[in-house]
Amino acid sequence: MRTHILGYPRIGSNRELKKACEQYWSGKTSLHELLEVGKTLTSQHWKLQQEAGIDLIPCNDFSYYDQVLDMTLTVGAIPERYQEIASQKSELELYFAMARGFQKDGLDITAMEMTKWFDTNYHYIVPEFQKNQEFKLFSDKIITEFITAKRSGVNAKPVIIGLLTYLLLGKEKESGFDKLDLVQNLLPVYIRIIKELEHHGAEWIQFDEAFLVLDLNKKAKEAFQFVYTEIRKQFPNLKFIVATYFEGLKDNLSLAVSLPVDVLHIDLVRCPEQLDEVLHSIPETLSLSLGIVDGRNIWKNDFEKSLAIIKQAVSKIGSNRVFIAPSCSLLHSPFDLDLEKNEEILSPEIKQWMAFAKQKVYEIVNLKKLASENPDYNTLQALAENKKAIENRKTSTLIHNQDVKNRVDVTTEEDAKRNNPFNVRKEIQQEVLQLPLFPTTTIGSFPQTKEVRNWRAKFKKGELTAEQYDNLLKQETERTIRWQEEIGIDVLVHGEFERNDMVEYFGEQLEGFAFTQNGWVQSYGSRCVKPPVIFGDVHRPNPMTVYWSKYAQSLTQQWVKGMLTGPVTILQWSFVRDDQPRSLTCKQIALAIRDEVNDLEKAGIRIIQIDEPAIREGLPLRKSEWQNYLKWAVEAFRISASGVEDATQIHTHMCYSEFNDIIQNIADMDADVITIECSRSQMELLNAFADFKYPNEIGPGVYDIHSPRVPSKEEMLQLLKKAHAVIPAQQLWVNPDCGLKTRHWDETEKALIAMVEASREASEEFALETL
Ligand code: GLN
Ligand code: ZN
Repeated sequence: MRTHILGYPRIGSNRELKKACEQYWSGKTSLHELLEVGKTLTSQHWKLQQEAGIDLIPCNDFSYYDQVLDMTLTVGAIPERYQEIASQKSELELYFAMARGFQKDGLDITAMEMTKWFDTNYHYIVPEFQKNQEFKLFSDKIITEFITAKRSGVNAKPVIIGLLTYLLLGKEKESGFDKLDLVQNLLPVYIRIIKELEHHGAEWIQFDEAFLVLDLNKKAKEAFQFVYTEIRKQFPNLKFIVATYFEGLKDNLSLAVSLPVDVLHIDLVRCPEQLDEVLHSIPETLSLSLGIVDGRNIWKNDFEKSLAIIKQAVSKIGSNRVFIAPSCSLLHSPFDLDLEKNEEILSPEIKQWMAFAKQKVYEIVNLKKLASENPDYNTLQALAENKKAIENRKTSTLIHNQDVKNRVDVTTEEDAKRNNPFNVRKEIQQEVLQLPLFPTTTIGSFPQTKEVRNWRAKFKKGELTAEQYDNLLKQETERTIRWQEEIGIDVLVHGEFERNDMVEYFGEQLEGFAFTQNGWVQSYGSRCVKPPVIFGDVHRPNPMTVYWSKYAQSLTQQWVKGMLTGPVTILQWSFVRDDQPRSLTCKQIALAIRDEVNDLEKAGIRIIQIDEPAIREGLPLRKSEWQNYLKWAVEAFRISASGVEDATQIHTHMCYSEFNDIIQNIADMDADVITIECSRSQMELLNAFADFKYPNEIGPGVYDIHSPRVPSKEEMLQLLKKAHAVIPAQQLWVNPDCGLKTRHWDETEKALIAMVEASREASEEFALETL
């Protein structure tokens, strides 16, 4: 029996990589310094796994921004617009330009698109393909990382995004071809990479082929067969692992077990039911890697349960064909529970139920020892402790609240309905709100500057009193309100300066949530999030946002939007309890948000935005399971939004959403206004809304806030016109793609001033047109 890790988190136990990248980007440190941080981190992570006793340790799981972008650079799929940078700058400069855009030295180039990694909250950079896309070995990162590992005494297992998964993650940038047609062009580069790795002494290679758990057409299935047969032909002696995760193999099972590789990894956390079938159909030439330790959640593994699974596998195929592993890469787990030392933040009772990446590595090793004939005393001790913690969690009084359960039981369909349909509400709202055509607004947050974050840090350390902190935030809020008034934004926001994070802020005020001090996971690039832990029944003891919304509204005659995070997003971006269905936890959160929406209305807030950026990423990976999810997710949103009068305008906001196939469900949410991401895709996403004739109002983002690049008025006007070509003017809002918290004030000011001008010009042109 062997142990392996599919991938280790790379950001560092204290987010060293984040800090190093940001310093380098801002010009404060050199490339050399950044590379040193990268080297230190990789070698620390290898050493940690080596000391724990992991048999196969991954390499190339490290990345300065994103593993898909790494692959894009490796195979030289550099889009045309970066050619100039490619010829002038270093590889890493080119790499960051592709990730973040480039606006320097007389060049002005947009970033590549970014989207969610399967159903996680990690974002990858989408590869761009042309019709006759050619590939070549461009970056040798994989090989150098392997050599570095070897020099530090680790014969690592390179982790490579599988050829088919890489192609399927990408996007055709012109019509008239299918990305799968590129297999023939790409295969030689993969062969070349493998050859180099073999040459340098690699014995194992892991191909991540998560697409094997998705719906695949015939062509894709044949391509899988073809590619792995070709690779096998060239490398009869290397050992290949094909890793699948986030779902079960289901109808792709026979394909997966027929691939001529050595080990198949399956996710038994997401889909434990697949074990029987897999064991039944696995050929003798194939070993099985059991993904039994949850790579995406923070709960301690239940050793007894896992041992039963291992035992079942061993008795069927023998221990030498069994591998023990986390369900997926540990990229989605926070680093180290041992760093959670502050008992006021994370109580010992809750902490004992949890395991982070480092602890999971040890769980894997312990499971292997426990599954062997004669586990030693320490290992048996670990088993006893594990049993105790699992038992404690099941019976803890911290978890259950009868009032919450009762309220969920009496919630009816009526609670999920507004009083009147949208067309009735629209008139009433217009009477009250009196908004112009093409109204401008923002998505909520304004720059979280160093000062703002400093105040919060100081307040937490006790260096600022609550009153001092409150005053500083009030000043910043007032300044932001005044500035929005000045430049002529129609619907203002308070800026969200009091919030650390759009989920954590709410979780901190809800019951049933726990927090960590250092439980960071990478979201995109250098951006990390610290998801709250939902461990018990959720409810809202007190109003959460009324104070700030009321304050902001008191400063101005214009409307200020109330800002809330929706139930699905709170669920999706938290570590969720695994002892009851997610839908039930979501409903509990929905009721808590409903209370907040109602309180905001009572406090005089007439426009309330309930952000649901995560609703689409929560979609099950298999289409057959979508409707079930959408039913409870949409219902949860509606429960939160439907306690208000017709005159109160409910907004929602979503990021990076491709809505084509769920547009009906988006409409079913029945928000009065929806703002969405659109600019990176040049309004392409809007087609879904146009074809469907989306009935309510919509604000397609006209500028990409994920890049420091400042768009011009003309650009935004152009996008607005594109939007107007498919959506009637009376339905359109003008806004950025997302919140501005990660941007600087100077960029924000320039961009929003231009945005307001673009909106004015659009309405002038529209007025002329309709004369
Ligand atoms: N209101 C949030 C903000 O502006 C929305 C962020 C998001 O959708 N990710 O920051
Ligand atoms: Zn957003």
